[in-house]
Amino acid sequence: MTLKVAQVAVPVPVPRLFDYRSADNQPLPPVGSRVLVPFGSRRLVGLVTGHAEAAQADGLKPIERVLDSALIDESLLALFAWCRRYYACAPGEAVNLLLPGALRRVKPFREPNPDYIDLTTKGRAADLARAPRQAEVVSLLQHGALKRADLKEAGIGADILRRMLSDGLVEAIDCPPALASEPGPNLNEEQRAAAAAILRSRNRFAALLLAGVTGSGKTEVYLHVARRLLFRGRQVLILVPEIGLTPQLVRRIEKRLGCPATVYHSGLSEGERLAAWKAARDGRARVIVGTRSAVFLPLARPGLIVVDEEHDGSFKQQDGARYHGRDVAVLRAARLAVPIVLGSATPSLESLNNVDAGRYQLLTLTQRAGGASMPRWQVLDTRGEGGALDQRLEATIERHLNEGGQVLLYRNRRGYAPVLICNACGWQADCHRCDAHMTWHQTPPRLQCHHCGAQQRTPPRCPECGSPSLEPLGAGTERLEDLLKKRFPDVPVHRVDRDAMTGRADFENLLDLVRDGAPCILVGTQMLAKGHHLPGVTLAAVLDVDQALFSADFRAPERLGQAVHQVAGRSGRAERPGQFLIQTRHPEHPLLAALLGDDYLGYAQCLLAERRAAGLPPAHALALVRAEAHQAQEPRDFLVAAARCLRMKGIDVAGPIPAIMARRGGYWRFQLWLQSADRAHLVQHIDHSLEKLYALPNARRVRWHIDMDPAEL
Ligand code: ADP
Ligand code: ZN
Ligand code: ZN
Repeated sequence: MTLKVAQVAVPVPVPRLFDYRSADNQPLPPVGSRVLVPFGSRRLVGLVTGHAEAAQADGLKPIERVLDSALIDESLLALFAWCRRYYACAPGEAVNLLLPGALRRVKPFREPNPDYIDLTTKGRAADLARAPRQAEVVSLLQHGALKRADLKEAGIGADILRRMLSDGLVEAIDCPPALASEPGPNLNEEQRAAAAAILRSRNRFAALLLAGVTGSGKTEVYLHVARRLLFRGRQVLILVPEIGLTPQLVRRIEKRLGCPATVYHSGLSEGERLAAWKAARDGRARVIVGTRSAVFLPLARPGLIVVDEEHDGSFKQQDGARYHGRDVAVLRAARLAVPIVLGSATPSLESLNNVDAGRYQLLTLTQRAGGASMPRWQVLDTRGEGGALDQRLEATIERHLNEGGQVLLYRNRRGYAPVLICNACGWQADCHRCDAHMTWHQTPPRLQCHHCGAQQRTPPRCPECGSPSLEPLGAGTERLEDLLKKRFPDVPVHRVDRDAMTGRADFENLLDLVRDGAPCILVGTQMLAKGHHLPGVTLAAVLDVDQALFSADFRAPERLGQAVHQVAGRSGRAERPGQFLIQTRHPEHPLLAALLGDDYLGYAQCLLAERRAAGLPPAHALALVRAEAHQAQEPRDFLVAAARCLRMKGIDVAGPIPAIMARRGGYWRFQLWLQSADRAHLVQHIDHSLEKLYALPNARRVRWHIDMDPAEL
């Protein structure tokens, strides 16, 4: 007799599912159920992903308890199965994507009380003449729900609230009810055409790439479409790269849509995440704004998915299940039969390739909205210039400040100086655990490795020759801030990087300050290149492109083009015309010529042609097998054996080769490159080879994983 068993994904890093039988006399829980199962000496929460016939019933353990029957629907389970296979990750890693942390705990999670307090009809009508404190609560809530914390601040004690809750005068709710909405601007011709194209697909799957120059009003297009779908009772999911940087976007969405946005990201507490997850699942959350993990939220009535700044690297998860949030979102939309809009001023080559292949529809916005024009570009040749701040740049900054403008300078290097060097013998402060220099920081003074985090005190003299003449070489954001403050003592200089902006509120407060419009200088890293709308900025500059021009990473030119266009896009977004400068010592470099000579889409087409000619992504599929260990020989041996397993017609296997940073955090890092013109073939082959790879003799002696569509090399 055969036995029906449940295949359960449990959160352990083993690349397979485990079979369990049902408890005595119980039916097998349906697919998608959350179950408690014994695992070795532990008990774990798992997810039933399928049913099967067991060849042998002996030794099969029973499911201990069904926690939630059919919690996850078929469409999400199918997505899960696809991710597991495509990204070659352990089912346990994939379970983490589907279940919020609170639902993965063995001990039942005590749910927090809903955060908002609202008046009930009974409360509105109640005669509280003899209960002045309760009457005060009613008057506070007159204009809508408030957070518990706000009531507390207003002097309302917990006892009063408890009393009113139990009397039914007020109720606790998860999110505040509808807000007043503000009509947006009238869409211009291009925006209207884009919105109409999206709305034509509102009842089916379509992937649309909205490529609109910076400030062209892409956000207004999504919001216009989202509004229409909300009116029809559908949910809208908006994925953004980093929510910490976008509270402003959330507020804008709420205002425009007249509906509270449910946010979902890793910065929330477990309870908040669970509440958002549930609200998405039962449809109470109508607009959801989240980072990549939100792509796995269950949705009751999906209507539209938007991926904002779709080119952003943070959509790719770099550990565990190494999925790409944008790509999974497209698949999700297809399974839900809803349209998906990918928006960017600088679309990824992946998405442009999908346009060329006819899989995505391209919508373009070529003009800035609201009458602003694109900034004027100019190259500043810094050959033969000594200092960290070019004099011509200083003069240009001065002119813009005098004319009442704000200045934004982009330098993708934190710290004071990227290198500390001995003038006597040439010694440089290097990290002992990485192939990298330590960065010198001034406040607090220290040497720090930006790759493994190692820190050490600045040596008073050279450890090689004893000379006291140690000199910081080059300039990071900290040094630039210093120089700018000295040069422009009367103007506020704000540094924007992870060292200066520690709390989430820091950056937001700064942006608010900057939007007030008084002249100032912003100097910072990547954080500044993201889509912020800073109407007062009239000069933007990229202070160094040279490193990217000579990078060994084949994606470097793409990222350079994106950063440059994004930084340029911060300039001249309002009435005053903008200017944009690029500093380089290699003005003749062909890449720079291409970047300057064309719009972003033209530049991207050149890069795409090169990738196609070289058989690189996105034209061909690429997967890496990465391995690392404290001894260099072990990962090499493992990868040599892995390469033998993986050789196959139609797939190029190259390596082991060292990672671009061959040693990091004390680990020697090597990789195999698997390339194929046939993506499905590559995925299938890896899937079939996985067990063999895990069984290799040295698979347990190294840390290794497979990375499909890798973002880093
Ligand atoms: P993007 O998302 O492309 O960067 P936004 O949607 O943020 O652009 O729009 C940039 C600015 O232009 C915003 O201040 C926005 O309110 C304004 N804007 C957008 N569309 C219009 C329009 N049709 N008319 C007037 N102003 C607009
Ligand atoms: Zn020395
Ligand atoms: Zn290091």
